[in-house]
Amino acid sequence: MNEILDGLPNMIAGQVWLAGAGPGDPGLLSLLTLKGLRQADVVVYDALVTPEILNMAGEGARLDFAGKRGGLPSHRQQDISEHLVRLAREGKKILRLKGGDPLVFGRGGEEARHLVENEIPFRIIPGITAGVGGLAYAGIPLTDRHTNSAVTFLTGHGADGGLAKDIDWEALAKSSPVVVIYMALSRIELIAEKFLSSGRPADEPVAIISKATTPEQKVVVTTLAKCAEDVKREHIQAPAMIVVGEVVRLREGLDWLGALAGRKLSADVSGIRPQGSRLLKRRDA
Ligand code: SAH
Repeated sequence: MNEILDGLPNMIAGQVWLAGAGPGDPGLLSLLTLKGLRQADVVVYDALVTPEILNMAGEGARLDFAGKRGGLPSHRQQDISEHLVRLAREGKKILRLKGGDPLVFGRGGEEARHLVENEIPFRIIPGITAGVGGLAYAGIPLTDRHTNSAVTFLTGHGADGGLAKDIDWEALAKSSPVVVIYMALSRIELIAEKFLSSGRPADEPVAIISKATTPEQKVVVTTLAKCAEDVKREHIQAPAMIVVGEVVRLREGLDWLGALAGRKLSADVSGIRPQGSRLLKRRDA
Protein backbone atom coordinates (compact mmCIF):
# COMPACT_ATOMS: atom_id res chain seq x y z
CA MET A 1 0.00 0.00 0.00
CA ASN A 2 2.72 2.47 0.97
CA GLU A 3 4.52 1.67 -2.27
CA ILE A 4 1.40 2.56 -4.21
CA LEU A 5 1.07 5.86 -2.34
CA ASP A 6 4.77 6.61 -2.88
CA GLY A 7 4.19 6.40 -6.61
CA LEU A 8 1.55 9.15 -6.50
CA PRO A 9 2.32 12.88 -6.60
CA ASN A 10 3.57 14.48 -3.37
CA MET A 11 2.10 17.56 -1.72
CA ILE A 12 4.25 20.63 -2.25
CA ALA A 13 4.72 23.49 0.22
CA GLY A 14 2.41 26.37 -0.63
CA GLN A 15 0.07 24.14 -2.63
CA VAL A 16 -3.60 23.35 -2.00
CA TRP A 17 -5.15 19.98 -2.72
CA LEU A 18 -8.88 20.47 -3.17
CA ALA A 19 -10.16 17.00 -2.48
CA GLY A 20 -13.36 15.02 -2.02
CA ALA A 21 -13.74 12.75 1.00
CA GLY A 22 -16.64 10.77 -0.45
CA PRO A 23 -19.99 10.36 1.31
CA GLY A 24 -18.71 8.98 4.63
CA ASP A 25 -17.33 5.45 4.49
CA PRO A 26 -13.53 5.83 4.76
CA GLY A 27 -13.21 2.89 2.36
CA LEU A 28 -14.50 5.17 -0.39
CA LEU A 29 -11.61 7.64 -0.17
CA SER A 30 -9.36 7.89 -3.19
CA LEU A 31 -5.70 7.01 -2.76
CA LEU A 32 -4.74 10.59 -3.60
CA THR A 33 -6.97 11.96 -0.86
CA LEU A 34 -5.48 9.43 1.57
CA LYS A 35 -2.02 10.59 0.59
CA GLY A 36 -3.10 14.21 1.10
CA LEU A 37 -4.37 13.33 4.58
CA ARG A 38 -1.02 11.78 5.44
CA GLN A 39 1.11 14.60 4.06
CA ALA A 40 -0.86 17.77 4.80
CA ASP A 41 0.30 20.30 7.42
CA VAL A 42 -3.25 21.61 7.63
CA VAL A 43 -6.54 19.91 6.76
CA VAL A 44 -9.30 22.46 6.21
CA TYR A 45 -12.48 20.39 6.36
CA ASP A 46 -16.23 20.75 6.04
CA ALA A 47 -18.96 19.49 8.37
CA LEU A 48 -19.75 16.49 6.15
CA VAL A 49 -16.28 14.99 6.52
CA THR A 50 -16.61 12.17 9.07
CA PRO A 51 -14.37 11.85 12.17
CA GLU A 52 -13.15 8.43 10.94
CA ILE A 53 -11.68 10.14 7.90
CA LEU A 54 -10.15 13.02 9.87
CA ASN A 55 -8.50 10.43 12.12
CA MET A 56 -6.50 9.34 9.09
CA ALA A 57 -4.65 12.68 9.02
CA GLY A 58 -0.94 12.58 9.84
CA GLU A 59 0.02 13.05 13.50
CA GLY A 60 1.40 16.55 13.11
CA ALA A 61 -1.47 17.82 10.97
CA ARG A 62 -3.65 20.67 12.18
CA LEU A 63 -7.37 20.24 11.59
CA ASP A 64 -9.23 23.46 10.76
CA PHE A 65 -13.02 23.26 10.72
CA ALA A 66 -14.53 25.42 7.99
CA GLY A 67 -18.07 24.22 7.61
CA LYS A 68 -21.60 24.77 8.65
CA ARG A 69 -22.92 22.91 11.63
CA GLY A 70 -26.47 22.73 12.98
CA GLY A 71 -27.57 26.33 13.36
CA LEU A 72 -24.17 27.77 14.28
CA PRO A 73 -23.10 30.75 12.21
CA SER A 74 -21.36 29.37 9.15
CA HIS A 75 -17.91 30.35 8.05
CA ARG A 76 -18.28 32.80 5.19
CA GLN A 77 -17.14 31.46 1.86
CA GLN A 78 -14.88 34.47 1.38
CA ASP A 79 -13.20 33.83 4.78
CA ILE A 80 -12.51 30.20 3.89
CA SER A 81 -11.03 31.12 0.53
CA GLU A 82 -8.82 33.76 2.13
CA HIS A 83 -7.75 31.33 4.85
CA LEU A 84 -6.54 28.91 2.15
CA VAL A 85 -4.53 31.66 0.44
CA ARG A 86 -2.99 32.74 3.75
CA LEU A 87 -1.95 29.18 4.63
CA ALA A 88 -0.48 28.68 1.16
CA ARG A 89 1.56 31.89 1.47
CA GLU A 90 2.90 30.60 4.80
CA GLY A 91 4.29 27.66 2.80
CA LYS A 92 1.98 25.06 4.28
CA LYS A 93 0.84 21.90 2.52
CA ILE A 94 -2.91 22.24 2.57
CA LEU A 95 -5.61 19.65 2.11
CA ARG A 96 -8.98 21.33 1.52
CA LEU A 97 -11.29 18.43 2.23
CA LYS A 98 -14.96 18.45 1.31
CA GLY A 99 -17.71 15.86 1.60
CA GLY A 100 -18.47 13.87 -1.55
CA ASP A 101 -16.94 15.47 -4.61
CA PRO A 102 -15.55 18.99 -4.24
CA LEU A 103 -17.09 20.17 -7.51
CA VAL A 104 -20.61 18.84 -6.97
CA PHE A 105 -22.76 21.33 -5.05
CA GLY A 106 -19.69 21.98 -2.93
CA ARG A 107 -18.39 25.40 -3.97
CA GLY A 108 -15.09 23.80 -4.91
CA GLY A 109 -15.06 25.78 -8.14
CA GLU A 110 -15.42 29.07 -6.26
CA GLU A 111 -12.54 28.21 -3.95
CA ALA A 112 -10.37 27.13 -6.85
CA ARG A 113 -11.09 30.40 -8.69
CA HIS A 114 -9.95 32.34 -5.63
CA LEU A 115 -6.71 30.32 -5.64
CA VAL A 116 -6.23 31.11 -9.32
CA GLU A 117 -6.76 34.84 -8.70
CA ASN A 118 -4.07 34.69 -6.03
CA GLU A 119 -1.72 32.53 -8.08
CA ILE A 120 -1.74 29.67 -5.58
CA PRO A 121 -0.94 26.29 -7.19
CA PHE A 122 -3.54 23.60 -6.62
CA ARG A 123 -4.68 20.14 -7.60
CA ILE A 124 -8.28 18.91 -7.72
CA ILE A 125 -9.00 15.39 -6.48
CA PRO A 126 -12.49 14.10 -7.18
CA GLY A 127 -14.46 12.19 -4.58
CA ILE A 128 -17.46 9.90 -4.77
CA THR A 129 -20.45 12.18 -4.66
CA ALA A 130 -23.40 11.32 -2.38
CA GLY A 131 -25.67 11.13 -5.42
CA VAL A 132 -23.61 8.22 -6.74
CA GLY A 133 -22.10 6.53 -3.66
CA GLY A 134 -25.18 7.03 -1.50
CA LEU A 135 -27.40 5.40 -4.09
CA ALA A 136 -24.99 2.50 -4.52
CA TYR A 137 -25.08 1.84 -0.76
CA ALA A 138 -28.88 1.89 -0.90
CA GLY A 139 -28.87 -0.63 -3.76
CA ILE A 140 -30.39 1.85 -6.23
CA PRO A 141 -28.74 2.07 -9.65
CA LEU A 142 -28.62 5.56 -11.13
CA THR A 143 -29.50 4.13 -14.51
CA ASP A 144 -30.87 0.82 -15.67
CA ARG A 145 -31.84 -0.33 -19.13
CA HIS A 146 -35.28 -1.28 -17.81
CA THR A 147 -36.09 2.15 -16.46
CA ASN A 148 -34.17 5.21 -17.60
CA SER A 149 -31.52 6.46 -19.97
CA ALA A 150 -31.03 9.83 -18.26
CA VAL A 151 -30.61 11.17 -14.77
CA THR A 152 -30.59 14.70 -13.32
CA PHE A 153 -28.73 15.95 -10.23
CA LEU A 154 -30.60 18.76 -8.55
CA THR A 155 -30.08 20.92 -5.49
CA GLY A 156 -32.96 21.79 -3.19
CA HIS A 157 -31.01 24.83 -2.08
CA GLY A 158 -30.48 27.65 -4.55
CA ALA A 159 -27.91 30.42 -4.28
CA ASP A 160 -30.34 32.62 -2.32
CA GLY A 161 -31.37 29.89 0.13
CA GLY A 162 -34.76 29.01 -1.41
CA LEU A 163 -35.43 26.47 -4.16
CA ALA A 164 -33.20 27.22 -7.15
CA LYS A 165 -34.97 29.70 -9.40
CA ASP A 166 -33.47 28.49 -12.66
CA ILE A 167 -35.33 25.17 -12.67
CA ASP A 168 -38.16 24.67 -15.13
CA TRP A 169 -40.07 22.07 -13.12
CA GLU A 170 -42.49 21.24 -15.93
CA ALA A 171 -39.62 20.52 -18.30
CA LEU A 172 -37.73 18.56 -15.65
CA ALA A 173 -40.76 16.45 -14.75
CA LYS A 174 -41.40 15.67 -18.41
CA SER A 175 -37.87 14.95 -19.52
CA SER A 176 -35.90 13.53 -16.62
CA PRO A 177 -36.99 10.04 -15.58
CA VAL A 178 -34.74 9.97 -12.52
CA VAL A 179 -33.99 13.00 -10.37
CA VAL A 180 -31.44 12.82 -7.56
CA ILE A 181 -31.77 15.73 -5.15
CA TYR A 182 -29.17 17.12 -2.75
CA MET A 183 -29.96 19.42 0.20
CA ALA A 184 -33.66 18.83 -0.10
CA LEU A 185 -34.84 17.37 3.19
CA SER A 186 -36.36 20.54 4.62
CA ARG A 187 -38.07 21.35 1.30
CA ILE A 188 -39.34 17.91 0.41
CA GLU A 189 -42.98 18.95 0.63
CA LEU A 190 -42.54 21.78 -1.84
CA ILE A 191 -40.41 19.65 -4.16
CA ALA A 192 -42.96 16.81 -4.18
CA GLU A 193 -45.70 19.35 -4.97
CA LYS A 194 -43.69 20.69 -7.90
CA PHE A 195 -43.33 17.17 -9.35
CA LEU A 196 -46.99 16.34 -8.79
CA SER A 197 -48.31 19.57 -10.26
CA SER A 198 -46.01 19.01 -13.26
CA GLY A 199 -47.71 15.69 -13.98
CA ARG A 200 -45.60 13.02 -12.24
CA PRO A 201 -47.77 10.24 -10.77
CA ALA A 202 -48.62 10.29 -7.06
CA ASP A 203 -47.47 6.66 -6.69
CA GLU A 204 -44.07 7.28 -8.27
CA PRO A 205 -41.43 5.77 -5.99
CA VAL A 206 -39.16 8.00 -3.93
CA ALA A 207 -36.22 6.94 -1.78
CA ILE A 208 -34.73 9.00 0.98
CA ILE A 209 -31.21 7.97 1.96
CA SER A 210 -30.00 9.49 5.21
CA LYS A 211 -26.36 9.41 6.37
CA ALA A 212 -25.51 7.25 3.39
CA THR A 213 -22.49 4.93 3.62
CA THR A 214 -22.09 5.54 7.37
CA PRO A 215 -23.06 3.03 10.09
CA GLU A 216 -26.20 5.17 10.64
CA GLN A 217 -27.42 4.90 7.07
CA LYS A 218 -31.21 4.77 6.85
CA VAL A 219 -33.25 4.29 3.69
CA VAL A 220 -36.96 5.00 3.45
CA VAL A 221 -38.85 4.03 0.31
CA THR A 222 -42.06 5.97 -0.20
CA THR A 223 -43.97 7.78 -2.97
CA LEU A 224 -44.30 11.34 -4.24
CA ALA A 225 -47.65 11.63 -2.48
CA LYS A 226 -46.39 10.39 0.89
CA CYS A 227 -42.71 11.37 1.06
CA ALA A 228 -43.10 14.62 3.02
CA GLU A 229 -45.20 12.91 5.67
CA ASP A 230 -42.82 9.92 5.86
CA VAL A 231 -39.77 12.15 6.39
CA LYS A 232 -41.44 13.49 9.53
CA ARG A 233 -42.84 10.19 10.73
CA GLU A 234 -39.54 8.36 10.34
CA HIS A 235 -37.54 11.26 11.83
CA ILE A 236 -35.17 11.29 8.88
CA GLN A 237 -32.04 13.28 9.61
CA ALA A 238 -29.70 15.25 7.38
CA PRO A 239 -27.63 14.81 5.38
CA ALA A 240 -29.98 13.00 3.06
CA MET A 241 -30.40 12.33 -0.64
CA ILE A 242 -33.80 12.13 -2.29
CA VAL A 243 -34.26 9.96 -5.38
CA VAL A 244 -37.38 10.25 -7.50
CA GLY A 245 -38.01 7.64 -10.19
CA GLU A 246 -38.68 4.03 -11.13
CA VAL A 247 -35.08 3.00 -10.38
CA VAL A 248 -36.02 3.11 -6.70
CA ARG A 249 -37.99 -0.13 -7.20
CA LEU A 250 -34.78 -1.94 -8.14
CA ARG A 251 -33.67 -1.69 -4.51
CA GLU A 252 -35.90 -4.74 -3.86
CA GLY A 253 -33.35 -6.81 -5.72
CA LEU A 254 -30.17 -4.91 -4.99
CA ASP A 255 -30.19 -3.93 -1.32
CA TRP A 256 -26.84 -5.62 -0.78
CA LEU A 257 -26.33 -4.07 2.67
CA GLY A 258 -29.69 -5.47 3.73
CA ALA A 259 -28.72 -8.84 2.26
CA LEU A 260 -25.53 -8.85 4.33
CA ALA A 261 -27.80 -8.44 7.36
CA GLY A 262 -30.02 -11.36 6.28
CA ARG A 263 -32.61 -9.74 3.99
CA LYS A 264 -33.80 -11.93 1.09
CA LEU A 265 -33.43 -10.19 -2.27
CA SER A 266 -35.64 -10.66 -5.32
CA ALA A 267 -34.18 -10.59 -8.82
CA ASP A 268 -37.64 -10.22 -10.39
CA VAL A 269 -37.85 -6.95 -12.34
CA SER A 270 -41.20 -7.68 -14.00
CA GLY A 271 -43.04 -5.00 -11.99
CA ILE A 272 -40.68 -2.27 -13.09
CA ARG A 273 -41.97 0.12 -15.70
CA PRO A 274 -39.78 1.73 -18.37
CA GLN A 275 -40.09 5.29 -17.22
CA GLY A 276 -39.10 7.04 -20.43
CA SER A 277 -42.13 5.74 -22.31
CA ARG A 278 -44.44 6.78 -19.46
CA LEU A 279 -43.03 10.29 -19.53
CA LEU A 280 -43.36 10.51 -23.30
CA LYS A 281 -46.96 9.24 -23.20
CA ARG A 282 -47.74 11.89 -20.62
CA ARG A 283 -46.33 14.61 -22.80
CA ASP A 284 -48.28 13.37 -25.87
CA ALA A 285 -51.53 13.05 -23.93
N1 SAH B 1 -20.10 17.82 -2.41
C1 SAH B 1 -21.07 16.93 -1.81
C2 SAH B 1 -22.43 17.58 -1.69
C3 SAH B 1 -22.46 18.75 -0.75
S1 SAH B 1 -24.05 19.43 -0.59
C4 SAH B 1 -21.15 15.64 -2.61
O1 SAH B 1 -20.60 15.58 -3.71
O2 SAH B 1 -21.73 14.69 -2.12
C5 SAH B 1 -24.62 18.63 0.89
C6 SAH B 1 -25.67 17.61 0.57
O3 SAH B 1 -25.05 16.42 0.09
C7 SAH B 1 -26.48 17.17 1.75
O4 SAH B 1 -27.52 18.08 2.03
C8 SAH B 1 -27.02 15.85 1.24
O5 SAH B 1 -28.09 16.06 0.35
C9 SAH B 1 -25.85 15.31 0.44
N2 SAH B 1 -25.01 14.38 1.21
C10 SAH B 1 -23.71 14.48 1.44
N3 SAH B 1 -23.25 13.43 2.15
C11 SAH B 1 -24.32 12.63 2.35
C12 SAH B 1 -24.51 11.38 2.98
N4 SAH B 1 -23.51 10.71 3.58
N5 SAH B 1 -25.76 10.84 2.99
C13 SAH B 1 -26.78 11.47 2.38
N6 SAH B 1 -26.66 12.65 1.77
C14 SAH B 1 -25.45 13.22 1.74
